[in-house]
Amino acid sequence: MSSADPQVETVVDLDAIAHNVRVLADHAGGAAVMVVVKADGYNHGAVPVARAALAAGAAELGVTTVAEALQLRAAGIDAPILSWLNTSDADYAAAVTADIEIGVSSVAHLRAVERAARATGTTATVTVKVDTGLNRNGVSGAEYPQVLGLLRQLVDERVVRFRALFSHLARADEPQHPAIDMQRDRFLDAIAVAKEHGLEPELVHLANSAATLTRPDLAFDMVRPGIAAYGLSPVPEISDFGLRPAMTFQARVALVKPVAEGEGVSYGHEWVAPRATTVALIPAGYADGVFRPLGGRIAVRIGDRLYPNVGRVCMDQLVVDLGDNTDGVREGDTAVLFGPGRPHPQHWADLLGTIHYEIVCSPRGRVVRRYVGDVARQGGV
Ligand SMILES: *Cc1c(COP(=O)(O)O)cnc(C)c1O
Repeated sequence: MSSADPQVETVVDLDAIAHNVRVLADHAGGAAVMVVVKADGYNHGAVPVARAALAAGAAELGVTTVAEALQLRAAGIDAPILSWLNTSDADYAAAVTADIEIGVSSVAHLRAVERAARATGTTATVTVKVDTGLNRNGVSGAEYPQVLGLLRQLVDERVVRFRALFSHLARADEPQHPAIDMQRDRFLDAIAVAKEHGLEPELVHLANSAATLTRPDLAFDMVRPGIAAYGLSPVPEISDFGLRPAMTFQARVALVKPVAEGEGVSYGHEWVAPRATTVALIPAGYADGVFRPLGGRIAVRIGDRLYPNVGRVCMDQLVVDLGDNTDGVREGDTAVLFGPGRPHPQHWADLLGTIHYEIVCSPRGRVVRRYVGDVARQGGV
């Protein structure tokens, strides 16, 4: 690496994204694939991930907010984009103008979209998110008839185009759980009730990553995977499904030095050198997304070897023990915090009692993102 390289970075492999999208498409059978690029593409970079996914065969993109959708449009991405979680005062006028499909979860949301469509003189494309048992976002059973009644009126007036009906599963990572079948049945009911209101969706979709990979019977017209596109298994205890993790979190060794036997290392001296040793300073800390509770419990990979972190993780740095440093680790060497091989984000998740979704969302602040892979070299970024 040259001196201009960042001290701490995430390297995102766009070939891995493309590979994972193809794996998902295989599992989806004939269904289309919408790749979810919310939260800046699960912290992998929404725009490059979206381009790589579309080039690999994804048909549509899913995001949370209108602002996220507009960012993709501003980058010149013209694929269908669905945005499904917004307050009623979101900039729906901008969304309608940019041809963003809006997911609504209440009469209030639909009224807000109606106002935007009338104000801009543009037909709004609306998708209804129905709550089938997650009890989070989505139209409640109580409000569903009212939403459909208003939707029917707006469709008749051509203020709104009704594109799709969708829902989200609560326990998809437990593929045999009866709650999944309960939600499927409620989803089928919701589709039937829409038809009774004279509303025929162009498509319906339900499956996230876990359902796409383990419940092909729930693919409907389109699947809606997120985490699996980034190469992490939504059901780690079953299989990795041949997915390739796209993110590597790494830093360059900032300093190598000896520590005498009996010397304490890092704040609080929680680790005391049991013998004379050599340590390496890794310039990544909790401000960069290395969770402080991991102190003394993780290892970093330098070359082919794993070196244990010793002492506390600080805001900007952590220390690893090189022992006799027989491999000659030097300042500037790359230390992998997590990536496709070892250490793996799942390991951090296990140590922290969380899920790898949160681990890949953690690198931030000073961390610089860089892209590798064919898609990046072709200027697709
Ligand atoms: C985040 C999200 C997804 C993707 O979930 P994964 O578990 O990452 O596949 C799909 N649909 C909705 C509504 C979501 O919020």
